[in-house]
Amino acid sequence: MCVETVELDDPRPTEIVVEIAGCGVCHTDLSFRDGSWPYPMPAVLGHEGAGTVIATGSAVRSVAVGDRVVLSFGFCGACDACLSGAPANCPNAPLINMRGTRDDGSTTLRKNGEPVHGSFNTQSSFASHVLTEERYATKLPDGVPLELAGTLGCGVPTGAGAVLNVLRPRPGSTVAVFGLGAVGLSAVAAARLSGCSRVIGVDLNPARLELAREFGVTDIIEAGAEDPISAIHQIVPGGVDGAIEASGAKKALSDAFSSTSLTGTTVLVGAAPVGTTYEIDSVSLLAGRTLRGCTMGLANPRVFIPQLVRMWGQGLLPIEKMSTKFKLSEIDAALAAAADGSVVKPVLIP
Ligand SMILES: [Zn+2]
Ligand SMILES: [Zn+2]
Repeated sequence: MCVETVELDDPRPTEIVVEIAGCGVCHTDLSFRDGSWPYPMPAVLGHEGAGTVIATGSAVRSVAVGDRVVLSFGFCGACDACLSGAPANCPNAPLINMRGTRDDGSTTLRKNGEPVHGSFNTQSSFASHVLTEERYATKLPDGVPLELAGTLGCGVPTGAGAVLNVLRPRPGSTVAVFGLGAVGLSAVAAARLSGCSRVIGVDLNPARLELAREFGVTDIIEAGAEDPISAIHQIVPGGVDGAIEASGAKKALSDAFSSTSLTGTTVLVGAAPVGTTYEIDSVSLLAGRTLRGCTMGLANPRVFIPQLVRMWGQGLLPIEKMSTKFKLSEIDAALAAAADGSVVKPVLIP
């Protein structure tokens, strides 16, 4: 990847320009860069941006110049899912977030008159400035560290929402979380907040297992050193009530599924490469287990992000402890650190 100067359009009536304070690096950025998920090139990636509104279109009413905002994913706003408050289930969202243009096919970015694909997740936040629709911006109160807040628009709601909006564990129940990146750590925090009696973290990386203690795991399992299924069944005889698969690893999904009790639920949030298939034991499913997926933690950003901010304010979601800052010019190092797992959440600072 490289850092270049490109032209940004002026905002149309419902659009805003945000000066980016920081943008988290997510594993999906790597998947799009590597082509394991398709995106038109040349493009500006980045979809965990937060910053300050510096310009607004003539019809913008809900945010104003000077507001601190976190950006989130795009949705159509007109389908049944959007109208019932579940924009994460919008069937038009994949197109809106992954086509690299506005609705009318125009790009928000150009270089020497040639189109550059922006609008990645309606943001393209590996940049100093972003042009997006006002409805994708959620205002942040003072006190939240703006440079680090971008992950409240993707990674954190993906994990926390998978627990709070989808799994909905009962107080006292047991949950295992596979993959302790930003998504998994947020799932851990949400499970603890839900009153789970055991929150078991599973990862290959011992440093992440230690970090997960600060987010509320009660037990840790190093997946490379022991078999997660038998280790979980030892901690919770009969299996856990719920499992979250947040690693994107193929084996982790079947391990998560086999770690649940006969009527347990596994929620898949880790994004494996397009075309990945999973193998699930038929008798285990027949017994009464549930397997489901969700994107963006089923979050309605302007409702859910303020809840996450309040969790952060109570010390329950310490995003500072998962984040490491890089300059935007160090983007290759930041993406490499995300890929090799040496950093949980690289944050690019323009
Ligand atoms: Zn993401
Ligand atoms: Zn929709």
